[in-house]
Amino acid sequence: MPKEFIATPSRTKKILHKYGFSFKKSLGQNFIIDANILERIIEQVEITETSGVIEIGPGIGSLTEQLARYSKKVLAYEIDQRLLPILEDTLSDYDNIEVVHQDVLKANLNEAINEHLADVTDVHLVANLPYYITTPILMNVLQQNTPIQSMTVMLQKEVADRMAAVPNTKAYGSLSIAVQYYTEAKVLMDVPKTVFVPQPNVVSSVLKLEKRAIPPVDVKDEKQFFAIVKASFVHRRKTLRNNLLTYFKNKYDKDEVSKRLDEADIDGSRRGESLSMEEFAKLANAFIV
Ligand code: SAM
Repeated sequence: MPKEFIATPSRTKKILHKYGFSFKKSLGQNFIIDANILERIIEQVEITETSGVIEIGPGIGSLTEQLARYSKKVLAYEIDQRLLPILEDTLSDYDNIEVVHQDVLKANLNEAINEHLADVTDVHLVANLPYYITTPILMNVLQQNTPIQSMTVMLQKEVADRMAAVPNTKAYGSLSIAVQYYTEAKVLMDVPKTVFVPQPNVVSSVLKLEKRAIPPVDVKDEKQFFAIVKASFVHRRKTLRNNLLTYFKNKYDKDEVSKRLDEADIDGSRRGESLSMEEFAKLANAFIV
């Protein structure tokens, strides 16, 4: 008889009891105990038996197991040493899973893909992320320019909404632009607290980020572009002109800032949150001399 999935309340309880495992809140340990939710997530990733998957934080292996069933190979990064012998036990029926004991923020994913996922057709990142570092993990992967086609992750609803937000909404800000410069972002579903042990304090969402082949806007200097976007949201209630004046205070005076705004054809009395990514690109390019 096949074993019960790890992602069930009873099997999870048995595993935790067998190893006397105590959750570390500081590592964002909230494990999933609902296999249906995992199946629904994996359906949306569109992985096949020739796909490779990178997972961050396998925990006791609930999502890892499901990923292994539908893909060619899973490479999972786990920081908590105590989970390694547990994973060896819970995932012993699968021969297509590699668990690496490492802080994912210190991992070189490009090298890891070359080494461990050389024989797959496509690579996807799927994770129930540790909530204390969702943004650094995702931005790190995006900025490393790793050959990952998509990232489908569970994270706090509030952060997922910010990453996928459109202009003129409360959630829209520099994080929305940073994420959407590299990917097409979509919130797939909200997930109730009841599918986790222990239950987190916040509502969660599943966010899918599909990597863009090229950025959606033409930016002359990416560093400057992201700096100007950030500066435009520093004081959300201030006008764009005032935020830019603060940012450029040692470089450009009011006339010069107004001139550049005119060049970009953007009204300086608008607020940052009303600008589209195209407009931010025009604005940033106008400040390149
Ligand atoms: N995937 C499991 C599940 O869904 O049940 C566990 C998810 S739990 C939200 C997050 C996992 O990430 C934990 O196992 C935790 O130990 C691990 N983790 C936390 N910080 C990490 C880091 N910097 N690098 C790798 N894993 C990390």
